[in-house]
Amino acid sequence: NSPSAPQTLIDGNVLAAKSFASCGVTHMFGVVGIPVTSLANRAVSLGIRFLAFHNEQSAGYAASAYGYLTGRPGLLLTVSGPGCVHGLAGLSNAMVNTWPMVMISGSCDQKDAGRGDFQELDQIEAVEPFSKFSVKAKDVKDIPNCVVQVLDRAVAGRPGGCYLDLPSDVLHQTVTESEAESLVTAALNSSESKPIANGSEVPTSEIERAVELLRKAERPLIVFGKGASYARTENELRKLIETTGVPFLPTPMGKGLLPDTHELAAGAARSLAIGKCDVALVVGARLNWLLHFGEPPKWSKDVKFILVDVCKDEIELRKPHLGLIGDAKKVLELINKEIKDDPFCLAKSHPWAEAISKKAKENVSRMEAQLAKDVVPFNFLTPMRIIRDAILGVGSPAPIVVSEGANTMDVGRAVLVQTEPRTRLDAGTWGTMGIGLGYCIAAAVAEPNRLVVAVEGDSGFGFSAMEVETLVRYQLPVVVIVFNNGGVYGGDRRSPEEITGPFKDDPAPTSFVPGAAYHIVIEAFGGKGYLVGTPDELKSALAESFSARKPTVINVTIDPYAGAESGRLQHKN
Ligand code: ADP
Repeated sequence: NSPSAPQTLIDGNVLAAKSFASCGVTHMFGVVGIPVTSLANRAVSLGIRFLAFHNEQSAGYAASAYGYLTGRPGLLLTVSGPGCVHGLAGLSNAMVNTWPMVMISGSCDQKDAGRGDFQELDQIEAVEPFSKFSVKAKDVKDIPNCVVQVLDRAVAGRPGGCYLDLPSDVLHQTVTESEAESLVTAALNSSESKPIANGSEVPTSEIERAVELLRKAERPLIVFGKGASYARTENELRKLIETTGVPFLPTPMGKGLLPDTHELAAGAARSLAIGKCDVALVVGARLNWLLHFGEPPKWSKDVKFILVDVCKDEIELRKPHLGLIGDAKKVLELINKEIKDDPFCLAKSHPWAEAISKKAKENVSRMEAQLAKDVVPFNFLTPMRIIRDAILGVGSPAPIVVSEGANTMDVGRAVLVQTEPRTRLDAGTWGTMGIGLGYCIAAAVAEPNRLVVAVEGDSGFGFSAMEVETLVRYQLPVVVIVFNNGGVYGGDRRSPEEITGPFKDDPAPTSFVPGAAYHIVIEAFGGKGYLVGTPDELKSALAESFSARKPTVINVTIDPYAGAESGRLQHKN
């Protein structure tokens, strides 16, 4: 450029897109509108795939699951005010699940804030309880730095949700192209990116103590959760478990790190395993409600916990016998190294491993006897068995299973078999219903070689059913199986004394239109729908849709009175 030649100017939308692309971002989920439409368009022109949703809630769930599956922050783009508020669903879900995610929202013009501007909201304040870090770009020149910061912070330490606020005036300010280049370069150079806390600082003496505890235990157990999945510990866990012969128990999303069919799997003998173990090595899983807080009566009062977690606060909260703070993959490597010099083995004839295996086999054969029956109209078990067998028939790479609903998720967790890591996504730590379609879309774009199969209740499906259009628009290989029992928990289960008052003739609060034709919803957009009510119909719909790998909804008619209200959590309702 000669000094007099006019320099090309770019605005904040373009600079933000450039910054994300320069940081290696490849996908973004969101809903466009004022003032971020141009940001999305520019992102696409720079090679970022933008998955455009109908609702920020679903897009946010997608971003959170994308973060979990890829280990890189999932991005959610929203408009200001209500867009940001809808996006909080995804952001909070990411925080609670400890998954890396960044929400980026446009916001109102800074000079009009406080005067009732279009879609005005103090978004930095609104996201506060739901994010680990937030930042507002107050000037166009701040954008590259802010982008680098939110991406770094989302994955640093315990992963979680971060927020970037982009006011509309900042998005419309301009800089020259050459200035933009140097701002982006400077920001990238300042990146303090530490993907996850390293575990190498765990003192050798603590690793030795952990191994000693396991070695001396009479009834050791290894428990792992979605933090261990996120940390990609499958090889280290397999090595540890197979060299020691210690039985293992995955949490719902830990399932698949080792196959559910492994001879040391204690999933089918869960009560015995947690009730009787004397030392439990818990990797990347919180001792929260899902693990009964690590307390009696489910656990023995004398159990010694060894917790491995990247988060110091988590260890301090639980006060385990021994806490190892660090990245699970690294810590397990150190444990394996320590064991290598003196392997101990719970031989196949060890009474503890044998008791677990015996109990697991008994429980499995009892369950199989139930599953073997073809019950029509369908209960939950018969179609779940048929779906399990169809999924296993796909082989490797195994499909990603997305699961939600009360009974559907409970039965699915027990019946569906996970054979590969990170192939199960469900309602998670918060029991969030409505995640289904968002998770399906994230899974399909994050893992394009895998088929995605959602197994969900009609209520879970309804939260975001319009996103079936998104499936069709992007032609994603997703088969959504809806267990249709006509409502939340199914048919009207009220007692006569609950059916009184002026609105007693309204449908029950738990009811939907009986026989709702969900399969036709996807056909409205050009996808494939099936209505099935018998084993043969279901088998043929699964065979066709699994080989077609096209957007599909299979509407499975379930007996409205099968299953239980609140599924497994009746005591909480
Ligand atoms: P689950 O629901 O499967 O029981 P949780 O979500 O309760 O699992 O627990 C996951 C835990 O994993 C969190 O406490 C989180 O801090 C931790 N975590 C996340 N990433 C890592 C990592 N790389 N190494 C170790 N722990 C991790």
